[in-house]
Amino acid sequence: MNTLITGGAGFVGSHLAEALVARGHRVTALDNLSTGDAANVASLKADSRFKLVVGDVTERGTLLPLVEECDVVFHLAAAVGVRLVVESPVRTIETNLKGTEAVLEAAARAGRKVLLTSTSEVYGRGGKAAFREDDDLLIGPPTKSRWSYACSKLMDEFLALAFWKERKLPVVIARLFNTAGPRQTGRYGMVIPGFVRQALRGEDITVFGSGKQRRAFGCVSDVVGALIALMERDDTSGEVFNVGNDVGISIEDLARLVKSMTASRSEIVHVPYDQAYEAGFEDMERRVPDLRKIRRWIGYEPRHQLRDILERVIAHARAARPSP
Ligand code: UDP
Repeated sequence: MNTLITGGAGFVGSHLAEALVARGHRVTALDNLSTGDAANVASLKADSRFKLVVGDVTERGTLLPLVEECDVVFHLAAAVGVRLVVESPVRTIETNLKGTEAVLEAAARAGRKVLLTSTSEVYGRGGKAAFREDDDLLIGPPTKSRWSYACSKLMDEFLALAFWKERKLPVVIARLFNTAGPRQTGRYGMVIPGFVRQALRGEDITVFGSGKQRRAFGCVSDVVGALIALMERDDTSGEVFNVGNDVGISIEDLARLVKSMTASRSEIVHVPYDQAYEAGFEDMERRVPDLRKIRRWIGYEPRHQLRDILERVIAHARAARPSP
């Protein structure tokens, strides 16, 4: 199978590229390297089944021939990370809306199936123990820029489902919950690489807010396995699936776990949200997926739990930055 991955040099995209090549598929990664990094796909550079094209999904001249050459499109290119979303809301909205519109339009012309990666942010502030794909969504007001990310990804979902309904474009939507693993950068605010870096450097481990907020972390290798399975099945078109891990942990417990697993002398400190992000920043108290649908449809079962993920992330961070 010839696959196109937009955002293929990003964290999830690069793991997806490796998994597809390992299964014998050909992969073209299209990435503008704004938050992606060619180093993420360095292991594939010499492989004749892999190609990195540096360009933007909104450049039609670049995108159209790549879509025509491939059999299926994994659309991962998007604005990424709460910090980037808060600091650059215009870029976030434009990247998410224009990029997805361009990809769906090109795929509809060429008749290629698309997997759109969406986000658990779309569930917003809903306080449920575990979110289901057909739940109502509770998004905060437009004066809080965080919610622009949720709304732009939600519009992407609507647009994708509209293409399925009106233009018969096969499209499947994967709502990724917090995903972690080697190569994820802490630059855009992601908590696990951030905590691991702080712990290894002996810097304060910064828990934002009360630290009682809960997240569930999926291992990137489990997540990309799910994306491939969702793409491979014909009956997933027009459907939305949660993807991640359903075992939650509070952020303060995560900080303690990282500290103990790295045997770090770092202090765990609390930083108010106003200082961490911006005045009036709103966080979600709880964000854990209900995975019953994806279990039922593709027999998905996360194989790696948080400790495994942290072990891999810590080993990767140590290898990238050997201690003096
Ligand atoms: N967080 C934290 N310290 C950090 C970075 C993040 O306490 O240095 C918190 C953040 O406020 C959120 C959780 O960790 O409650 C997960 O943050 P992340 O940005 O990784 O993903 P989110 O779930 O917010 O999309």
